[in-house]
Amino acid sequence: MPTSSQSVQPAELLHSVFGFASFRANQEQICRTAIAGRDLLLVMPTGAGKSLCYQLPALARGGTALVISPLISLMEDQVAKLAALGLRVARIHSGLPRAVARQACVEYLQGALQFLFIAPERLRVRGFPEMLAKRKLALIAIDEAHCISHWGHDFRPDYRMLGQYLPALRGAPDPAPVLTMTATATPTVQADILAQLGMVNPAKFIHGFRRENLAIEVVEIPQPDRATAIFRLLLEPARRPAIVYAPSRKQSEHLAVELSRAIPAAAYHAGLDAETRERVQNAFQAGELEVVVATIAFGMGIDKANIRTVIHAGLPATLEGYYQEIGRAGRDAALSRTFLMHSYADQRTHDFFLNRDYPPIESLSEVYEALTEEPQNANDLRAASKLGEEEFDKALEKLQIHGGARVDFGGSVTRGGPGWKKTYAIQARYRAEQFEKVLRYTVSSECRMSALVRHFGDLEDANRPCGKCDICDSAGAVLRQFRRATALERDIVQSIIDELRPVDYKAAGTLQRNLDLVGRLSRSDFEALLDAMARAALIEIESAEFEKNGEVIPFRKVRLSALGLEVRQSIPLPLLIGDGVADEFGGRFDPPSDPWMRSKKPKLTRPKLVHEDPKPAKTPAPRSEFHPATPEEQALAQSIEAKLRDWRATEAKRLGVPACVVLYDRALAAVAQARPTNPQQLSQIAGIGPAKVERFGEAILTLCRPPD
Ligand code: ADP
Ligand code: MG
Ligand code: ZN
Repeated sequence: MPTSSQSVQPAELLHSVFGFASFRANQEQICRTAIAGRDLLLVMPTGAGKSLCYQLPALARGGTALVISPLISLMEDQVAKLAALGLRVARIHSGLPRAVARQACVEYLQGALQFLFIAPERLRVRGFPEMLAKRKLALIAIDEAHCISHWGHDFRPDYRMLGQYLPALRGAPDPAPVLTMTATATPTVQADILAQLGMVNPAKFIHGFRRENLAIEVVEIPQPDRATAIFRLLLEPARRPAIVYAPSRKQSEHLAVELSRAIPAAAYHAGLDAETRERVQNAFQAGELEVVVATIAFGMGIDKANIRTVIHAGLPATLEGYYQEIGRAGRDAALSRTFLMHSYADQRTHDFFLNRDYPPIESLSEVYEALTEEPQNANDLRAASKLGEEEFDKALEKLQIHGGARVDFGGSVTRGGPGWKKTYAIQARYRAEQFEKVLRYTVSSECRMSALVRHFGDLEDANRPCGKCDICDSAGAVLRQFRRATALERDIVQSIIDELRPVDYKAAGTLQRNLDLVGRLSRSDFEALLDAMARAALIEIESAEFEKNGEVIPFRKVRLSALGLEVRQSIPLPLLIGDGVADEFGGRFDPPSDPWMRSKKPKLTRPKLVHEDPKPAKTPAPRSEFHPATPEEQALAQSIEAKLRDWRATEAKRLGVPACVVLYDRALAAVAQARPTNPQQLSQIAGIGPAKVERFGEAILTLCRPPD
């Protein structure tokens, strides 16, 4: 039996009660802070060991800890674990008979419990908070605290009301500390949690998001080419076991069939029956299956340490989800690779899912208006509604989450409060913004791991490049292709370095103007060059903004790095400029050996990954320099080029990306000259790969059509 004396050392409790040999990273310091009575915000990844951080301090402080948990299954799991350690624990939630709840209250009031778990809605039961307040609590732990925030994906209105009960529950003087825990809270969500709970000056522990053994690659690749690329990546036995995340059930099935031609693979998604899912999961765990192609439903219950590769065959909806998923690779600490494949088409897929998962507010209103104080049967309501069945269910689900509808166990629905409109709108907007963050992540030139660490709010740890991702180590990238800078580009790089040497920093636009590059090199090609310099660690680029006439205008601050400062004569590095997908995975060559997986081959000697010079322009013959264009043709080309520029500017703005991501200047001019009439011709133009054709082909070809 543990003692509750303050003098017990945390390490002693760790051994004697929990049976662990040592603390994990940060656990001891967190425990000491909590034991001392300070409020805490813990943001650490799943599996980091957050539970111990309230359990151990609870025992050290003595008395009963109140634990608030949003899910019955989580609660039952924790209760069972604590009971197995011989601790006195009880829980109260809607899935239990009344007598059990009553017994728990009796034991609580007798001071017989070390832990009492409750669901947040229990606090709405009249008299319950007052009953709890009769005794002084050791501490109050709030698990999955992101549920408090409108912005969190699992927002729960009952969680949001916690704040109003806390002062009474904490007691006075010397209020009991509040410990909030979550694995997924961005700085916005963190701030919301603290504000809602009225936590003043809590100690914050935001740790553990950096993974040292993951090499992240983000590659633009058209959807039709992905199956081949994935197949070729996973043919290499050293890249297995692997998880492939597919955006839809259909695609997960399709990919699994493709892979099965050579590799033991299976699909896993929510549309399969429970038995099949369990079979797939067990076979993967046991090593009989080497690849699982899953929708996001897979991986939660997986405890497989040696997953070598995680591939996203489409854009994830949020960076939080993406992080969780790639995090399943390399639990054994051995090097592992992750690939995120994306293209413009993913955006359309995502819009579709967003509309499905967050229906328009009008749909919710329609359902809300049909609700009354009198309980009505959900089936009757659905039948009477103008909405489709799925739409109706989704709308009702959202209303329920946001308090606009109450559904009892029998399926009867009553009308809730009107507050749902506001919180639902906030959540839907936040959801859309989260996806925009994913889009920005794909075009960013910041280290991939650092960007993720920063996203979770660990700013201290966010400044160290990982050295392994496609940004940090372009030459080591497997799927993403880079070409070497041309002689001209290297000259420009040298002059950029010279220009930056005497100053702290320059804005990218100023730099381009100062060097008189405006006519010689387009802004987008210039930005691509800066990105290449940043990847080579010659410069550092910082996103900044200034205000002009009330408008916030973003710009990029460019400063010389320590390495850049040393460069006087010629750049010692093979500067690499991003250039699509490696040929090896595009269907034309056999897979190369990945230097990490096999040999000590010097990275830059892999011939097909790196082009010494840009590919020669492959514009259709008739309009070449040997057949000078007529004045009419020139005029036509000019007008098309102007139209393409306008279109590109609009497109870039809409996507929130630099214009060069849409189309390089060079390619734009070549298109105007060549005036392709079909996708095949378009793809022949230098700078226009299959990805661009898929993404923008239709729009470009329309603009190239001669006026009739
Ligand atoms: P989280 O809530 O952060 O997702 P948990 O608290 O559920 O993680 O802990 C994950 C697992 O790690 C649990 O099985 C727990 O028993 C174990 N664990 C926690 N701390 C330690 C430790 N110091 N030593 C060994 N195992 C630990
Ligand atoms: Mg937990
Ligand atoms: Zn990196």
